[in-house]
Amino acid sequence: MIDTIIIGKGAAGITAAIYLKRYNKNVLVIGKDFGALEKTVKIENYYGFPTGIDGKELIQNGITQAKHLGIDVYDEEVVQIDNTLEYFLVTTPNHEYKAKTVLIATGKKRSPINVKGFKHLQGKGISFCVTCDGFFFRNKRLALVGYNDFMLHELSDMELLTKDITVFTEGNELTAPVKHKVVTDKIIEFVGDDVLTGVKTENGSYDFDGVFIALGTPSAADFALRVGAILDNNNLVVNASYQTNIEGLYAAGDAIGGTLQLTKASYDGMMAAMHIKNKLNDLKRLSK
Ligand SMILES: Cc1cc2nc3c(=O)[nH]c(=O)nc-3n(C[C@H](O)[C@H](O)[C@H](O)COP(=O)(O)OP(=O)(O)OC[C@H]3O[C@@H](n4cnc5c(N)ncnc54)[C@H](O)[C@@H]3O)c2cc1C
Repeated sequence: MIDTIIIGKGAAGITAAIYLKRYNKNVLVIGKDFGALEKTVKIENYYGFPTGIDGKELIQNGITQAKHLGIDVYDEEVVQIDNTLEYFLVTTPNHEYKAKTVLIATGKKRSPINVKGFKHLQGKGISFCVTCDGFFFRNKRLALVGYNDFMLHELSDMELLTKDITVFTEGNELTAPVKHKVVTDKIIEFVGDDVLTGVKTENGSYDFDGVFIALGTPSAADFALRVGAILDNNNLVVNASYQTNIEGLYAAGDAIGGTLQLTKASYDGMMAAMHIKNKLNDLKRLSK
């Protein structure tokens, strides 16, 4: 079993990996893209680069440094984390990995669906987690917003609840076919007074009892909802040891909020690694 799986290969995730590796821990980093620095941006306030550095180049340098130390860095999207009490199960579209501890360093969510009615009806018919809230919508008319592996993952859970499912792709191409009705035009409004009653798109109106959002890449908030970790204003809540309220589940970087800067993300990664190392050593002692 892996000592620590780090989700995210940005400043927080890679720094944590480097420290954990040097503490002689067995660590795997799983990341999908360049995170906050996916779009070209010059970084001029990070230590050690007199004339600045391209954001992607900085992140790529970190990944190369980690690999140079013998750390595995996989290019995959994590779609689910489960806490089995004995270990954490981290799921990607094609693999499952078991770990004693997990560090969420997934940065900030970048694909909210902020249209009319969204804020008002969130939690009143709009949900972000089929496993968490699906039970309340058995045999109801449900909409699922998404288009990729994350959506497909939620869909497989939703199909256990109801047959009446419509997928809204928000103009994106489905990455795999689905056997349900598909609407491709964008949602412009979530309708309902006290509870959600439907959805309006650019070209139509639809009645629903519930809407589940699984758009883009699963974020720290999506993982938190699933495992029961506490969120505050979409930031994962951690204690002074960077541990969430779930034993063995840690978080660092933009995912925990505060100052959203690279230096702070690296600092978080280092501190989280130190506390994870202590936790792993405690686990080792207990198992003897
Ligand atoms: C346009 C822009 C300009 C900026 N300029 C500066 C600057 O000049 N100076 C500065 O200090 N800061 C700057 N920042 C902020 C800085 O980029 C962030 O604070 C920093 O990148 C946070 O690091 P992180 O490791 O927490 O998250 P990120 O760098 O966002 O990394 C998140 C990682 O998580 C991965 N990930 C997310 N979800 C999943 C998933 N489900 N499965 C697998 N992997 C996943 C991503 O692929 C990525 O590897 C800027 C941000 C933006 C958006």
